[in-house]
Amino acid sequence: MTFLPDQWRPQPNMLAEKTLLITGAGDGIGKAAALSFARHGAEVLLLGRTEAKLEAVYDTIIAEGGAVPGIIPTDLAKVSHDDLIALAGELANSIPKLDGLLHNASILGDRKPLAQTSAALWHQIMQVNVNAAFMLTQALLPMLEQAPLASVVFTSSGVGRQGRAFWGGYAVSKFATEGLMQVLADELGETSNIRVNSLNPGAVNTAMRRTAYPAEPPQTNPSPEALMQHWLFLMSDDSRNINGEALSAQS
Ligand code: NAP
Repeated sequence: MTFLPDQWRPQPNMLAEKTLLITGAGDGIGKAAALSFARHGAEVLLLGRTEAKLEAVYDTIIAEGGAVPGIIPTDLAKVSHDDLIALAGELANSIPKLDGLLHNASILGDRKPLAQTSAALWHQIMQVNVNAAFMLTQALLPMLEQAPLASVVFTSSGVGRQGRAFWGGYAVSKFATEGLMQVLADELGETSNIRVNSLNPGAVNTAMRRTAYPAEPPQTNPSPEALMQHWLFLMSDDSRNINGEALSAQS
């Protein structure tokens, strides 16, 4: 069941005046979201680990006449709390507020039984998918508080709502993502301008999906672009009353 209101359609410039930070903005769903937000008027801050991919997204936005994006090359597997505090400080010197934060970057890890899962890989998955999202959110809260209305979206997964064999650390990291969303939403919902939700994209034709299901024909699943109205809605003020919800982009 979609959570979009009946007949809801993104309006052309509905994200004008908003600054939105997207993690994992160089590929897959994050790239599609960054381009889509920019096409609807937002200034986007592109965070990701492969600078060349971020530059390609930057070039597309400029070529399309969008607001000049920011590029934040950051490897979330290696980033420290201090690095993210410093990043937030630099951002605060150049922009007055942050209206949205899309936690999208994640790694899949190995599809293996827990009995064979390496502890090092487990830690890496938790670092990228959970710890970095916590630290980045905490560092950016003061800037989110400066926005009239702000939206934080965590990216979940079906295996973060119902555990499934062989999804290992990835599934557990997505349960943690849901927990992070719930705690933060409960803390901020009544007392701040910030709403916090999670979004399960469902099966989407990206590199991650193709890795997880190598035998599946890629066209089985929708492209990220085909689903973008859900991300647009959550970053627009039309979702101002939704907080603490575990949402899905596909039924
Ligand atoms: P993807 O195509 O693999 O893209 C993931 C993005 O995250 C890439 O831009 C990647 O950067 C970035 N990233 C990975 N590790 C990073 C790190 N250490 N530091 C910074 N950035 C990093 O995956 P996707 O399918 O678009 O997935 C996006 C989100 O949707 C994820 O949270 C995923 O769990 C979730 N999801 C996807 C599906 C699906 O069917 N696709 C289903 C359920 C949930 P590089 O390009 O530089 O590697």
